[in-house]
Amino acid sequence: MNTKYIFITGGVASSLGKGIIASSLAKLLQARGLRVTIQKFDPYINIDPGTLNPYEHGECYVTEDGAETDLDLGHYERFLGVYTSQANNVTTGRIYHTVITKEREGAYLGKTVQIVPHITDEIKRRMLLLGQSGEYDVILTEIGGTVGDMESQPFVEAVRQLQWELPEEDCMSIHLTLIPYLSAAKELKTKPTQHSVQTLQQSGVKPDVIVCRTEHPLSPELRKKIALFCNVRPGHVIQSIDAWSIYQVPLNMHEEHLDELAVRKLQIENFNSPDLNVWRSFLDRLRNPSSEVDIVLVGKYVELQDAYKSILEAFVHAGAAYRCKVQVREIQSERITDDNVAQLLEGADGILVAPGFGERGLEGKVCAIRHARENGIPFLGICLGMQMCVVEYARHVLGFADAASTEVKPDTTHPVICLMEEQKKTTLKGGTMRLGAYACRLQEGSLAASLYGQTDIKERHRHRYEFNPDYLEAFEASGLKASGRNPDSGLVEVVELPSHPFFIGVQFHPEYKSTPERPHPLFLGLVRAALDARTKKQ
Ligand code: GLN
Repeated sequence: MNTKYIFITGGVASSLGKGIIASSLAKLLQARGLRVTIQKFDPYINIDPGTLNPYEHGECYVTEDGAETDLDLGHYERFLGVYTSQANNVTTGRIYHTVITKEREGAYLGKTVQIVPHITDEIKRRMLLLGQSGEYDVILTEIGGTVGDMESQPFVEAVRQLQWELPEEDCMSIHLTLIPYLSAAKELKTKPTQHSVQTLQQSGVKPDVIVCRTEHPLSPELRKKIALFCNVRPGHVIQSIDAWSIYQVPLNMHEEHLDELAVRKLQIENFNSPDLNVWRSFLDRLRNPSSEVDIVLVGKYVELQDAYKSILEAFVHAGAAYRCKVQVREIQSERITDDNVAQLLEGADGILVAPGFGERGLEGKVCAIRHARENGIPFLGICLGMQMCVVEYARHVLGFADAASTEVKPDTTHPVICLMEEQKKTTLKGGTMRLGAYACRLQEGSLAASLYGQTDIKERHRHRYEFNPDYLEAFEASGLKASGRNPDSGLVEVVELPSHPFFIGVQFHPEYKSTPERPHPLFLGLVRAALDARTKKQ
């Protein structure tokens, strides 16, 4: 079978959940026994989102191979349980960078370099790239942005060309739109969808299926009307009604026959019906919890839901494993001081201190960590959260009052967190952190080893600063143990406090690897410890 390509565009409004629809359809196809991946083409000029503030597009997701990517790749991995890579996320910036570099090298000598065909050729090359490995039966491509935007035009044009260049049965187009409900008129309105599909068709792309986001069910008449005006069959207009969990969406899409429409259009033969048993049992546990814990997430981007997407999802996965509803309360670290910490963190069964960059809110993180350490509250620190737990321990246990990370205090007399040698030479900001998966060896008998159930692990990184090995002896002698080290460089990746019920800081990002079907051991550990802490309180 040839590799099949499904393109997903969006219209009417942004944030309709194209990534979730793509992930859901991909999940259904995977559950039918097909090998599937998803890629995202983003129409902005940054080479990757690594240099973007989380307030712009939410969290920056990191893949195994160290690509800094759009957070939708997190959804792809969580739904499919399959790793993505740099090739799965392409931006306008990356496309232009490639074309302009080639132009300087003389690859187009004599020719005028233009959007069509040079930019669109490069887009098409990348759209087909993952298909060439023979690893996948189906590749779904999500086009970021909304049709009609100036930025996404070259991507839509590339899809138009591919619709003609690929065999008809190898290519499918899905358009996601919004059907707004006017409460005054008590009516669902189809006009924005009609206009959005018109715009898409003016670009030469004919949708095979229209997925309509809606708060209310679409009647058969309404579906017929959309079909009539939008040039598709009535059965090809499907509803995506607001769901109680994003993980419910694959089942909703299956009920609407989206996967069936795809296998028919793509002429995929001998397919099974989807086996979603594990998924359903996860959903059942998620929906019917028998216990509850309160976790406080201390971070600096708490106003924006998407800033800590992977962490929040990892709590959903770990909670479901224990049939436990994890209530995550996000607290802005800037607000926390020694005076109000007890009051702000009152009732917390567990505390997670989030990753981050820069000075804002750092001292609040230190206060929260001290509170967790001194009061035996289960604690997990991730990346900057781990670095701050080292700083906190140095200040309040080792007595190094001005201990700090050199990221914010370059002239501290106790640089317990400092820049790695190779980072000192780095001048460029983009893509130059310690990125992607690195091995870590856990100490036998440590909390970390018992949570993972093994001593050799691999986790993803995204940071410049490190635990300063000059202080290792002092820390270990006073009780904070380095229980995970990089086997090649010796860098400290995990610290823990054996005298505390659950106190662990990790330099890497466990949240990126948690999925509903494989919740992450550290999140499982924190939820378990929080459950135990709550039981003790009662
Ligand atoms: N700012 C810290 C560093 O660069 C931590 C980064 C993070 O939390 N991802 O090392």
